[in-house]
Amino acid sequence: MSLLSIENVSKRFGENEVIRGLSLDVKAGEFVSILGPSGSGKSTIFNLIGGLLTPDEGTIRLQKESIIGKRGSISYMPQTPSLLPWRTILHNVLLGQELQGNINREKAIEMIEKAGLKEYIHSYPHELSGGMKQRVAFIRALLSPQPIILLDEPFSALDEWTRLGMQKWLLDIWDSHRPTILFVTHNIEEALFLSDRIFVLSHRPSHVISELKVPFSRPRNEELLLENRFLE
Ligand code: ADP
Ligand code: MG
Repeated sequence: MSLLSIENVSKRFGENEVIRGLSLDVKAGEFVSILGPSGSGKSTIFNLIGGLLTPDEGTIRLQKESIIGKRGSISYMPQTPSLLPWRTILHNVLLGQELQGNINREKAIEMIEKAGLKEYIHSYPHELSGGMKQRVAFIRALLSPQPIILLDEPFSALDEWTRLGMQKWLLDIWDSHRPTILFVTHNIEEALFLSDRIFVLSHRPSHVISELKVPFSRPRNEELLLENRFLE
């Protein structure tokens, strides 16, 4: 049964028709990527699911309930990390949990340390680089308790080495808890490496033109650990 179900969604901005007749289903525990070139409407799709935009046509349902125009029913890491400048890194990470009334401070600290940001835990966003802020927003999204996590190009500002580490970490988390993840990227290799299913968007107006068959199974956890050791 679908956890998230998008049916026949269209969206235009004035003359600019960005999404036409998009349908997409995500089941609980899946890791689904949406792959497409810049400007194909990937972030627009996430803004529609996240309730920041409303579609001109179509339905968006989470567990059968419409979430059109509703914010906060999913965990959303937008393409540009939006950290609150007056809150420390720890308190930015805790924000997602505070809004849902369920705080796990120890877990937040553990994740911040694991992301290589231990020295910055009590720093403020302006003291961090773009890639560091991206990691903070990533952790916040992962720790929010909603049933589905949207990640919009979460590793785009990272150097190759850090990105590889974060990708492996995300796979590790996915392998152990099976969170439902919807991931946006323009990077084909990244989509192939991470996802169970990949949907490819055409140029605008976008609709899912094809579901790309993942041509090989992802390496198992143990193999990833071996690779990690190799990297060290
Ligand atoms: P992608 O994330 O795939 O790079 P976007 O979804 O950001 O693409 O943008 C797709 C198109 O929609 C672009 O032409 C962009 O200018 C337009 N667009 C996105 N959001 C808005 C908005 N809020 N108002 C007007 N145009 C928008
Ligand atoms: Mg985008």
